[in-house]
Amino acid sequence: MQTSSSIENLSPKAVWSYFSRICRIPHVSGHEKDIGEYLMSVAANLGLEAEMSDSGNVFITKPASAGMENSPSVLLQSHMDMVGVKETELHFNFQKDAIRPVISDDGFVTAEGTTLGADNGIGVAIILAILSDDTLRHPKIKALFTVSEETSMGGANTLTEDDMDCNLAINIDSEDIGEICIGCAGGTAYNISYTPDIREVPESGFGAVEIRMSNGRGGHSGIDINKNRLNGGGTLLYLLSALKEEGFNVCVSKFSSGHVRNSIPSCASATLCLQEHLINKFINSLQDIINRVQTKFSESDPDVSFEITRLDTLPAVMMTEESTADFLNLKSLNTKIIEYLDDGVTPLTSCSMGVARLENNICRFELLARYATDDGKAKIEKKIEDIADACHARIDHKESYIFWKPDFNSTLMKLASDEYEKLTGKKTVTTVIHAGLECGLFKALNPKLDIISIGPDIYGAHSTSERVRISSVETCYKWIVSILEKL
Ligand SMILES: [Zn+2]
Repeated sequence: MQTSSSIENLSPKAVWSYFSRICRIPHVSGHEKDIGEYLMSVAANLGLEAEMSDSGNVFITKPASAGMENSPSVLLQSHMDMVGVKETELHFNFQKDAIRPVISDDGFVTAEGTTLGADNGIGVAIILAILSDDTLRHPKIKALFTVSEETSMGGANTLTEDDMDCNLAINIDSEDIGEICIGCAGGTAYNISYTPDIREVPESGFGAVEIRMSNGRGGHSGIDINKNRLNGGGTLLYLLSALKEEGFNVCVSKFSSGHVRNSIPSCASATLCLQEHLINKFINSLQDIINRVQTKFSESDPDVSFEITRLDTLPAVMMTEESTADFLNLKSLNTKIIEYLDDGVTPLTSCSMGVARLENNICRFELLARYATDDGKAKIEKKIEDIADACHARIDHKESYIFWKPDFNSTLMKLASDEYEKLTGKKTVTTVIHAGLECGLFKALNPKLDIISIGPDIYGAHSTSERVRISSVETCYKWIVSILEKL
């Protein structure tokens, strides 16, 4: 392993030397003042016009190179904040300490014990390298560096129509070289509740069983939704429904799955009551179904485990059989993917059940539906609302955020695709990401904006294994330079 100073010698030199400097300036979300000032100082040194907004976003303008004054101006954009995650043992203060980048033997740059901040520091460095090179041919460039993308998109949210006065934009916050992202999912967050009829558990003739699922793989509720992973709550509801179909009339007494809306719960637990004389048979059938589930999901969730415990003490109360039936049917709220992109692999419309809990005699669900088209939004919202209706559940809260609608005829996408093929001999892949990107907000401010999102290979973003492929940074830089020349 080599150490930090040597990343400055990687190619392209300007990109890596800016990135090395960025690593030395703490810049986690919410603490972007220093990096913002650094960006302002780079602009001043280059003699370029720059401005910092009240929210901390930085704009730098570079006039067109000679002969390209009549070409349409272009927005180049990255976010200046990073996610700070460190190894538990490491003493590291993200507001004070410098990230220590290292070059690994397999052609990546990673950081010692922390996130690297290639998301999105590499994007920032690529833009600075372009701004600093007077030999390049390009139209007028408006560079935009936003704050707090990783937490709330707070910087992008403060932009105005005037800020989006270009009709072409390249966002450099994607993480797969050769992919051109032309759209992203928006979402509707739902809080749904169901009030079951509750009765006391009879003191005699009833028994109780607890089921626990643990070590599912979990993951991002959008990006990982097409990976066929078990959803903790969804799985337990499925198991109980299957047993109900076999004739076991169980009554749910406790249920708990998930903590946040936007992640797939990797574990869950449920306690149920049923007639005592059926318990042994019930446990055998349950074990059979669990075996089938484990086989079916052995690739996506290799470590998932289930524990069945017959309880000595009965819980005090349980849902009635009728209410349990409604509750089990609410498993359909975890719709997963309902529409794919034409490639049949990329999710376009989906809904994931992040939270499902029975607390204080009320069942509460937190869902996140995602979509990238008006049609998808209408479809998934109708579906969720129909399921809630059919199961006598209530929608307590519904809140939407905007999607970036893909333009499959984007001129900029076609140009970028041609230039990539010329540069590498390989074809690009067009994607619509199933998560939020700032581009959705830009497009809402200027519907005419032709915008693409690209970037180098970054793996493990937001974790201590974050790494960026060195060769892809050079490809990405050359790719953007060649797009700019052709505008
Ligand atoms: Zn990012």
